[in-house]
Amino acid sequence: MSTVAKDTVVSLHYTLRDDKGRILDSSAEGPPLEYLHGHGSIVPGLERALGGKKKGEKLQVVVPPEDGYGPRDPAGRQDVPRDELPDEIDLRPGTQLVVEDETGEERPVWVLTATPDTVTLDLNHPLAGERLHFDVEIVDVRAATEDELAHGHSHGPDGHGEA
Ligand code: ZN
Repeated sequence: MSTVAKDTVVSLHYTLRDDKGRILDSSAEGPPLEYLHGHGSIVPGLERALGGKKKGEKLQVVVPPEDGYGPRDPAGRQDVPRDELPDEIDLRPGTQLVVEDETGEERPVWVLTATPDTVTLDLNHPLAGERLHFDVEIVDVRAATEDELAHGHSHGPDGHGEA
């Protein structure tokens, strides 16, 4: 098993840059990213580009916003009174929170700014609207275990990793 296909677990090193060439994220300092292919664990444009590739291959993938973190919704900003949020949460800019919308559904939001009175949240992923430039090296490809398939995600070397 050395070809990326549905239900394989792929380990890869990656560097992600924006249009200006700034590094947004990289696995270089740590272990490779591991994910279960074909289950929507990574952005769709990157997952599609990796299908059929082999262990040891290097590739460059440019992912437009619609195949990445989606377009940026200018109406995605919301001001929330500080006292409507729990005291203990971290309100540093960029922190991801999970809130319930009117229908009770949980959704991620990101802190933009916070004052003692008001917290401005953004419903957009921080990389929404960005074209993503990935440099990828496929480190390993293996068949998923039964547990991994049942859970729909890969389990890291320590057992139950959340990749
Ligand atoms: Zn699991």
